[in-house]
Amino acid sequence: AQPLLMVRNLRKYFPVRGGILGRTQAMVQAVDGVSFEVKKGETLGIVGESGCGKSTTAKLLIGLTPKDEGEIIFDGIDLGEGLSLKQLRKGVQMVFQDSYATLNPRMTIEASVAFGARVQGLDDPEGRARRLMERVGLDPNRFAHRYPHELSGGQRQRVNIARALAMSPRLVVLDEAVSALDKSVEAQVLNLLSDLRREFGLTYIFISHDLNVVRYISDRILVMYLGEVVEVAPVDSIWAEQAHPYTRSLFSAMPAMDPDHRTKEPPLSGDPPNPINPPSGCRFHTRCRFASEVCKTTPPRLAGLARNAQHLVACHLHDAASGHPKAGQEVAA
Ligand code: SF4
Ligand code: MG
Repeated sequence: AQPLLMVRNLRKYFPVRGGILGRTQAMVQAVDGVSFEVKKGETLGIVGESGCGKSTTAKLLIGLTPKDEGEIIFDGIDLGEGLSLKQLRKGVQMVFQDSYATLNPRMTIEASVAFGARVQGLDDPEGRARRLMERVGLDPNRFAHRYPHELSGGQRQRVNIARALAMSPRLVVLDEAVSALDKSVEAQVLNLLSDLRREFGLTYIFISHDLNVVRYISDRILVMYLGEVVEVAPVDSIWAEQAHPYTRSLFSAMPAMDPDHRTKEPPLSGDPPNPINPPSGCRFHTRCRFASEVCKTTPPRLAGLARNAQHLVACHLHDAASGHPKAGQEVAA
């Protein structure tokens, strides 16, 4: 089946001021050549340290930030060629971490949820809003005429989910959508999201720094490092084996990871390098204990593992033709 979303070589650089008195201009390579697919009905989790380009990728997908280069193909139609930004934004909705900032403080909950439906010209926006409020666990008789400041963080995030659904999207991008919530509320909202996905036939992209949360909700996990995709795999496969040294470090730093499954990789040292001037070759080579000469000069390609073509990794260790002295050997922990 054709994927719901295909992203090819997506690139976004941001200008930043630097140098003495901010007179020089440099470019941050926020997203650099990112490609992936999202199948209909699946949840793709995106993980990586802050600043790795997860959120920028999300914003590029809905045109909140214009891309410099690359293709965004939604349901087989290319953005800019047959697919307008308006159509893309109807099909793809986003839920952000900050539940308060995205709601108009002077609009009632019902009006906020109904707003999108009205903009889309959908029938009976208020009735639709009340049904959706009910569905996300907010009794419309109690909440319809309240304002955002009268709600808890969890309730506001339920409003944002209802608001996204009011647009009848096919893909919902959740960027740290549960990260600000207490653990118990977080679990409730995650369960709600899982139920809604089945019920409405939705597809999710779920961005989070919390690997346990991503594992719980995702079918596949994509790992980003310094604006690039370093590994993409089904959850079970990546949980069993992190093929990329960066992924191993990321997983080994997880607080609640079952000790039996914890990799013995030493945790990452230091901050990620500056994305204005990322390392040559493999961008991870400055922090990788397996780095060899080829890693400093040649960027690794993202390719399927020999034993599992669904498990993609960009690392010379897994590419026999790379010239890496340890290529093809088991990456010893
Ligand atoms: Fe490490 Fe080289 Fe693999 Fe990059 S390509 S992760 S530096 S071994
Ligand atoms: Mg972010």
